[in-house]
Amino acid sequence: MAYKLSEDHPLQPIRVKLAVEQMRASGLLEYASVLAPKTASRQELELVHDSSYIDLVAALSDPARRPEAGPWQVEAAGFGSSDNPVADGMHEAAATVVGASVVAAETVHSGDALHVFSPAGGLHHAQARWASGFCVYNDVAVAAAWLRERGHRVACVDVDVHHGDGTQAIFYADPEVLTVSLHESGRYLFPGTGFPDELGKAPARGTSVNLPLEPYCWDEPWLAAFEALIPLIRDFQPTVLVTQDGCDSHLLDPLAHLQTSTAIWPRIGNRFHTLAHELCQGRWVALGGGGYALREVVPRAWTLLFAEMVQRPELAAELIDPEPFPPSPEEQERVWRGLDLGLQKLSAELDRKLGR
Ligand SMILES: [Zn+2]
Repeated sequence: MAYKLSEDHPLQPIRVKLAVEQMRASGLLEYASVLAPKTASRQELELVHDSSYIDLVAALSDPARRPEAGPWQVEAAGFGSSDNPVADGMHEAAATVVGASVVAAETVHSGDALHVFSPAGGLHHAQARWASGFCVYNDVAVAAAWLRERGHRVACVDVDVHHGDGTQAIFYADPEVLTVSLHESGRYLFPGTGFPDELGKAPARGTSVNLPLEPYCWDEPWLAAFEALIPLIRDFQPTVLVTQDGCDSHLLDPLAHLQTSTAIWPRIGNRFHTLAHELCQGRWVALGGGGYALREVVPRAWTLLFAEMVQRPELAAELIDPEPFPPSPEEQERVWRGLDLGLQKLSAELDRKLGR
């Protein structure tokens, strides 16, 4: 709840609380244990972030120490905009979001649980040396790096409406971590990246995968795109699945232009669940992510996801939007064409860069 960057910021932590309350109201917490988070250690943050960046965030967090940082330094580290204001206590809050996701990774690695959901997590835009897109530290990347350090091959699958650019950049040259992102095209939406030709750098060619979608994309093409990426995850043969489950592709989300319904969430959850068992002996770390329709969408989407994690989908079925939200026939045509083109490009790039 402390990860609140300003009073009028779009990312309000109340959404996490509302989501957990909905899970409880739907009776799902009876099939799960609630784990306490921790604050990530310096060493854990340094799995991903530069030491000097962590020093700066810690100094900016404390009003008394804030003058230590020069204005150019603050700007270079991504702070000072309304997206990423300098906020009191942001170091501790962000380190606790990371800590919760590390607890999730630890629990799945030790086998104490097969699946763990860390709904405050999913801060996928933070980079090694700078904050971006509401994200101070990248818990997705820290959890993945923590698992990788213990010998895992990690598949990070990101269904947020925004490209998972920070996670991708951090593992761009790492062949042991696959990053897959399905998102609204960077031609229309922040952060402006995530195109099929971003495939990873040697020796990790082919371990970054991106499929951009056209605005107004609704359930049917969204799920077709999602399904088209599954074979690439299988081919990678991960030993653990880390999913960023941003729910900002919904029609009601105020920050983006896709128009899915909550009906995609049982499908996403079921697919991840099946993949985790099929490929990873069940190991699945699910993280939150975007979602700015705080009351109307986030609690329903994440409860539907969680219901699949605990295999009680019937308890959440009433949270599914009754009808999908397809756009006009002309727009439908354009969305499908864009998807075909995106899939063709992705397959051509993979063939070309991998010399297939
Ligand atoms: Zn997002």
